Amino acid sequence: MNNAVFNVIDNTIMKARNNADSCAEDYKNSDGLLVCGKCHTLREIFLSLDKTNVFYERYKNHPVPVPCRCRKEKIDAEKMRLKQSEMEMRINRFRKEGITDKNYLKYTFSQDDNKNPNISKACRKYADNFSEMYNLGKGLVFCGQIGTGKTFYAGCIANELISQARSVLMTNIPRLITQLGNSQEAKNCVLNEISHVSLLVIDDLGVERDTPYSLEKIYEIIDTRYRSGKPLIITTNLKYKDMKTEGNTSYKRIYDRILQMCHPIPVLGESRRSEESQKSTEFMNDFLGLN
Ligand SMILES: [Zn+2]
Repeated sequence: MNNAVFNVIDNTIMKARNNADSCAEDYKNSDGLLVCGKCHTLREIFLSLDKTNVFYERYKNHPVPVPCRCRKEKIDAEKMRLKQSEMEMRINRFRKEGITDKNYLKYTFSQDDNKNPNISKACRKYADNFSEMYNLGKGLVFCGQIGTGKTFYAGCIANELISQARSVLMTNIPRLITQLGNSQEAKNCVLNEISHVSLLVIDDLGVERDTPYSLEKIYEIIDTRYRSGKPLIITTNLKYKDMKTEGNTSYKRIYDRILQMCHPIPVLGESRRSEESQKSTEFMNDFLGLN
C-alpha cells in the first residue's frame, strides 16, 4: 500500500483527534479507549476492519475519535437550532416578498369570525392538505359579491402556508401587469416567480381594465401558471356561471384555464365591508353624542 495513502488517513485521524471534545474527567477503559468523563460513553473506537482489508494490519489497533453521547446531543441540538433559524429566515423572506399588500398579512385563520363555517373549514382543510393539493395542481376560485370575505379566505390560506415555510405569492392583476410591462429582465423575473412559487394567489380578478393589452397579459399570467402545473387561488367578483358561459374568446380562454385549475367556492352573504362601515358609523355617532 502506498505510503501517501497512509499519510492521508493518518492526517485525517489526527485532525479528527485534534478537533474532538475532551474534558478533564475523561478516562481510558480496559481496552485502552477514551471514555467521556461526563456521559461515560466512548470517545474513541477501533475501526471495524475485515482481516482481508488492506488497512487491517496497520489500523487494527488504531483508535479513532467519535463523538460521545453528550457531544452527539450537542451537535444534534446545534443542527436543530440552525435548521430552525434557517426556517424562520425563509418564512420571513416569503412573507416579505410574497405578500404584496400589508393588509393581506392580517388575514389569518385566528382572525376568522366563522360567519361561513363551511368555507372556513374547507379553507383550513385545503391548507392542512396542501401537499396533496400541490401534487394535484388543484387550486380554488372564490366567487362572490364585493366584501363577502373572499380575499380574507384566500389570505388565510396564503399566510398559513407561509408559516409552514412554503413559498407563496399573493398579488393582483394590475400589479402583475405593471411588473410585466417593465424591462425584459423584470418580465422574466415575474414569470419565473409565477411558475415557481408553491402557491399563487391572484386577488380581485375582473376589476382591471379590460383592454386587449391587459387581457393578453392576464392570459400570459394564467397560462404560465397553468403550464407550471402548480395550484392557483383566485378571488373574483365574477360569477362562476358567467365564467363558464363566457362567449367572448379573449375572456373565454382565460376563464377556461382558471376553471380547469381552480375548484369554485361561492362566497355568499352580507357584505362585511358595509357591516363594518355601519358599525363604525354607529360608534362615531355614539362617541359624538349624535344618537
Ligand atoms: Zn460525553
